[in-house]
Amino acid sequence: MFLAFVSIMPQMFTAITEHGITARAVERGQVQIHIISPRDFTTDNYRRIDDRPFGGGPGMVMLAEPLSQAIEYAKALAKQHFDDKGIPNPNCPVIYLSPQGTSLNEQMVLSCCQFDGMILLCGRYEGVDERVIESYVDSQISIGDYVLTGGELPAMVLADSVIRRLPDVMNDDSALQDSFVDGLLDCPHYTKPLIFKDKKVPDVLLTGHHANIKKWRFLEQVKRTKTHRPDLWDKFTPTKEQAKWLKELDK
Ligand code: SAM
Repeated sequence: MFLAFVSIMPQMFTAITEHGITARAVERGQVQIHIISPRDFTTDNYRRIDDRPFGGGPGMVMLAEPLSQAIEYAKALAKQHFDDKGIPNPNCPVIYLSPQGTSLNEQMVLSCCQFDGMILLCGRYEGVDERVIESYVDSQISIGDYVLTGGELPAMVLADSVIRRLPDVMNDDSALQDSFVDGLLDCPHYTKPLIFKDKKVPDVLLTGHHANIKKWRFLEQVKRTKTHRPDLWDKFTPTKEQAKWLKELDK
């Protein structure tokens, strides 16, 4: 997947390019990351990327000109990348990370996995000049109803959540057992030692009885989801096997 981050703080992205599973995906060539700074497209001595808002008021606004040039550059890189790979009509939207966007969830992450690439626009200050959004942005994504100082962390949250769901990025299928994948929260996990602070690992996990372990894990998922996320539980449709386990519980 082609990923271009347009950001005035390019150094922040080492968090995903140099660490963990995302870094390994980059090394293996499963993800191609480009970080493009609008400052490189300024023409003045101060390399200005922001100015005061028309109409007055506090804060600064990111200038349209360097931002638009950075986005055009990202699009040119994408074109080159997809041409090299022979991908016709690549699906590579420009996404603005914004608290005003649609709230990110697992379904959206999976939809993003279908893109050939993404150009992720990171705002700072009061945000970007509205005309940049009107001219270039295909969609806006928020990571929640609160405001951060910049779009870099949200862009990395989106990129991380997408990269780990790309085919063959995780070495095992553990990503498929995590919360939200089957509509429920994940079950509890245990490893050595057997006893920690007088708390023993649940017996069933030591039996080696796979069917019983599977059932126990599902019922634990149900317990947690009902308690912590009743909204998810209300929407959950069990499989035949799960419905049978749930009936046994009610008896
Ligand atoms: N004035 C903007 C508003 O109230 O909608 C907030 C600007 S915020 C201080 C600066 C930048 O951080 C935004 O342009 C956006 O890129 C990013 N940002 C902040 N909170 C975010 C969130 N919850 N989700 C995604 N991006 C966010």
